[in-house]
Amino acid sequence: MELQVIEKSDHDLFVQNLINNYQVEGVKRKNGSFIYGPIKSPEDLCLDFDCTKTSPTKMYFLPPEETLLRFTTAPSFEATQVIESNPFIIFGVHPYDIKAINQMDQIFADGLPDPHYLKRREAALIIGVDPTKVTPRSFWADMEADAVSKGFDLLFTDIGIRFVVEIGTEKGRDLLSQYGTARPATKDEARERLNIRSQVVHLCRQRGLTFPKREIPNLLERSTETLLWEEKASKCLNCGTCNLVCPTCYCFDIRDDMELDFVHGERIRRWDGCLLQDFAKVATGENFRETRAARYRHRFHRKGLYLFRVLDDVACVGCGRCASACLADIADPVDVFNRLKEGEQ
Ligand code: SF4
Ligand code: SF4
Repeated sequence: MELQVIEKSDHDLFVQNLINNYQVEGVKRKNGSFIYGPIKSPEDLCLDFDCTKTSPTKMYFLPPEETLLRFTTAPSFEATQVIESNPFIIFGVHPYDIKAINQMDQIFADGLPDPHYLKRREAALIIGVDPTKVTPRSFWADMEADAVSKGFDLLFTDIGIRFVVEIGTEKGRDLLSQYGTARPATKDEARERLNIRSQVVHLCRQRGLTFPKREIPNLLERSTETLLWEEKASKCLNCGTCNLVCPTCYCFDIRDDMELDFVHGERIRRWDGCLLQDFAKVATGENFRETRAARYRHRFHRKGLYLFRVLDDVACVGCGRCASACLADIADPVDVFNRLKEGEQ
């Protein structure tokens, strides 16, 4: 592992140089929250955030709506694929969100690769940052998402008057040497980085799972009929917010929109969410998950059981966004998993 150091007094110049040469996106403060958006000056960029409202996965790689292709039906049918991607940097991605991006990379590359996702992903340089704060609903340490070994070009850790920067890729190394003033980290600085990391992990463990994460898939498999699904789902508003904020929810709907001339049209992909009432409704009018409990249960089974078979990992990184955003306060995976475990004891 290669560690470099950049002084905080040199950091603004590094960011400004990136802005001068790239489209830079990053974390900004907005009305007491943190969101991703364009960084126009170094002062815009915030690196000491706890968690952003929206995830970088959704914001930059899976937009709410996109045109997949444009077609004409006359004089003969013709279709042109639409793939849009420009090089850009995302500055300030926490390791749990990098882990979510790594999971989505696997999902969208396996089987029939998705060129729309993959092109955007190839165009992005990711500069990660270790968290220094934790939201009351985060549990990423228990989901083994406090550290990542891939999926970033550079990874910053704030150690006081300077940042230690882990080099993740050649592109990251070039970025730092071309636009920043860095030197190799000393042993003391590398040790301090580990200290800071373990302090934040300790903070994150103030709440969390009462049992090891590896038990989640079997626990869910045994819990198909539990009354907990009914109890929780009885308060569900079917709003789908938990899906929308989640960095590992990626379901979508595809439809063709025709213009009024019935010649030109577009194939559109839009977000969908398994908690929405019509998510499993098919053309005959049949709804395969008609009850709120069936939809609610599906979300947890999907993340902890079905996707586990694909990823060999639970598709929840413990960001806590769903728990923070749910108006009915029923979406917290920690509460669900711990209650399922308690029910077995
Ligand atoms: S955010 Fe809460 S209320 Fe809304 S769909 Fe999800 S679980 Fe139901
Ligand atoms: S299920 Fe909730 S805690 Fe887990 S990754 Fe999605 S939003 Fe984050």
